Amino acid sequence: MLNIFSNKNTDYQKRLENLIAAMRQNGFLTNEKMESAIRNIPRHEFVPSHLKNRAYDDTPLPLLKDQTISQPSVVSRMTEWIDVRKGQKILEVGCGSGWQAALLSYLVEDGFVFSIERHPELANYAKRNLERLKIKNIEVIAGDGNKGLPSRSPFHRIMITAACKRIPGALLEQLDDNGLLLAPVGEHYQALTLIKKTTKGFVEIKNEPGYIFVPLYNEHNK
Ligand code: SAH
Repeated sequence: MLNIFSNKNTDYQKRLENLIAAMRQNGFLTNEKMESAIRNIPRHEFVPSHLKNRAYDDTPLPLLKDQTISQPSVVSRMTEWIDVRKGQKILEVGCGSGWQAALLSYLVEDGFVFSIERHPELANYAKRNLERLKIKNIEVIAGDGNKGLPSRSPFHRIMITAACKRIPGALLEQLDDNGLLLAPVGEHYQALTLIKKTTKGFVEIKNEPGYIFVPLYNEHNK
C-alpha cells in the first residue's frame, strides 16, 4: 500500500483524522470499507495547490473551469449508497478532479472505473492526479457524459456527480441487470436518487433531498 502520509504530511494526517471523526459523527461515514477508501485516497492530491491546506475541510473546493471537487461528506454518502463490490465495472459521469473516481477504483479492487468529463482541461487534470498516484484501473474520457459509454456497457454501477433535471435515458439503458445508478436530481436543489434496475423495471430505492451540485450540461443548458 502506498504510504500517502510521509513526515512532511503529518499535518494532513491530523486533519484527515478530524474529518473522519466529524463525518462519523454526522452520519455521513458509516462503514469501515469507506473509511479505508478515504484514508487511502488522499484528497489533498486532488485539489489545486493553493487550496491544499483546506483539503480536509468538509467543504467543496473550486477546480478549473468553475467546477468543484465535491464535499467529503457528500462523496462518502454517495459512495456508500452505490454499494461497490470487488470486480465491478463502474461508470462515473463528471470526473472533475478524479477523487471520486479514485475512491470507486479503490473499492472495486480488480474491477474498473470509466469516468467521463466534459472539460478536456479537467479530464487532463484528473489524469495527471491519477497517474501521480499510480492508479491504473481508471480510464478518464473527455466527452459528453449524457451519452454514457455504450461500447463499454453494461455497467454494474453508474454514478452521476453533477445535477441533472432528469436522469439521461442513455445512462439508464447502460445499466446492468440488478445494477444501481445514483444521481443528484433536481433543478435548483437536488435529491440524491438511487435507482435499481430490476426485472420489473427501474425502481427508486433511496431519495434524500437537500443537496446542491454543479449542473450536468447537455445541449439544452450549455
Ligand atoms: N466527481 C468530481 C466532482 C464533480 S463536479 C470530483 O471527484 O472531483 C461535476 C463535474 O461534472 C464537473 O467537472 C463538470 O465539468 C462535469 N460535467 C458537467 N456536465 C457534464 C457532461 N455532460 N458530461 C461530462 N461531465 C460533465
